[in-house]
Amino acid sequence: MNDAFRKLPQIHALLESEQASPLVVRYGRGAVAHALRVRLDEIREALRSGCETTPTDFRTNDFFATVEAAITSGRASSLRRVINATGIIIHTNIGRALLAPEALEAIQEAGRSYSNLELDLATGARSSRHVHVEALLRELTGAEAAIVVNNCAAAVLACLTCIGAGQEVVASRGELIEIGGSFRMPDVIAQSGARLREVGATNKTRISDYEAAIGPETAVLLKSHTSNFRIVGFTEKASRRELAALAHSRGVVMVEDLGSGVLVDLSRFGLVDEPVVRDVLQEGVDLVTFSGDKLLGGPQCGVIAGRATLVGKLRSHPIVRAMRIDKLSLAALEATLRLYKAPNNPLERVPVLRALAESLAIVKARAERLALSIASVPGLRVEVVESTAYAGGGALPQQGLQSFAVALKTPSLSAEAMASRARTGDQAILGRIHDDRFCLDVRTVQDSEIPDIARAIQRALAP
Ligand SMILES: *Cc1c(COP(=O)(O)O)cnc(C)c1O
Repeated sequence: MNDAFRKLPQIHALLESEQASPLVVRYGRGAVAHALRVRLDEIREALRSGCETTPTDFRTNDFFATVEAAITSGRASSLRRVINATGIIIHTNIGRALLAPEALEAIQEAGRSYSNLELDLATGARSSRHVHVEALLRELTGAEAAIVVNNCAAAVLACLTCIGAGQEVVASRGELIEIGGSFRMPDVIAQSGARLREVGATNKTRISDYEAAIGPETAVLLKSHTSNFRIVGFTEKASRRELAALAHSRGVVMVEDLGSGVLVDLSRFGLVDEPVVRDVLQEGVDLVTFSGDKLLGGPQCGVIAGRATLVGKLRSHPIVRAMRIDKLSLAALEATLRLYKAPNNPLERVPVLRALAESLAIVKARAERLALSIASVPGLRVEVVESTAYAGGGALPQQGLQSFAVALKTPSLSAEAMASRARTGDQAILGRIHDDRFCLDVRTVQDSEIPDIARAIQRALAP
């Protein structure tokens, strides 16, 4: 064994070898040296553990092929494209909202060039990055003022820190939500430096419960959207209007975390529990928070909109500076918000809303095209079936959206095995398993992706 160790070549000798020279030309000396070092370490480890018995021949093309594979696989992006055939339009694990072409162009422009991000071109003086979207947000929501931070979780934390720190936040026991990714309302309140005063019971919180809880220490009355669950049956809750009136009569700020925050009514798509931001503010809520990359259909960010005095206070708070939105997201947000302005129809221009609103006939035609394009895989049974799609992103629908899927079945592979192969292939595809079939719901698929899906399925399911 000692002999085998002694026979391991020096890196510089390998680098000088004939087989290494094309790799050095292609990838650079540093990258090749690094890959050689890693490979030699692996061989050393294998010798030590006794796994490796046949000595490696370092002069073969095989050895250098493994070195080259290591270099190229290290170059492949970790963050890769995934085709979403789950039928879940806003899926946090695969990146939530797809952006409109206008938003993508705005990102390119903001990345390629300098911009007036924080510069007033008229005066040459420094200005605020928030101005680029504030007027649009005011127009679209009716808010007096608005700012944008990194995401909605940050928006909630910023509001509570700025307004509630050292004081009490009153919230219903039925709304102490966990959104996922360790966003739990009681923890967020604790993090803000405010004290949580829970009121009511899980299923019932009356206006009188809030009334009794508000005291001299209370700064905020917090309402939260119970996005991802529903309490049904013997329930009662105070209306938003009642809560706002109570807050104002007692000199307390009413904050509502809307989560998704929609700018147009989506109830006809089954989303009956998603209030329109403008209506929420009109009912008297002082500050609302909502995500940019859920049903709004824009980039990751969190909007805070409402009363000018409160937003002004937030604007100069250090926590807002620490959570500020980056210029690329800001550019994408501005472009997305413009698509909500007449004469644009956001249901046609914003991809998330288009996926929600697309007619069943169009979805079915797409499923049929996809089925045809993968029908040539031998042994694979391909069928267009009815399916149910979902908005996702915590927006719990009364009912799913009618959709169509391409269901795949083969005698040689289970549905789970098909799903796993489709997920781990060169082009990852995410589908759903239903009735022991691997199903590709096409409400979330783009027409341009059909050839890619066909190719990837062909390769993934080849015997
Ligand atoms: C999704 C959600 C959040 C968190 O939003 P992010 O943009 O992911 O930070 C907060 N509150 C509610 C009610 C939500 O649905």
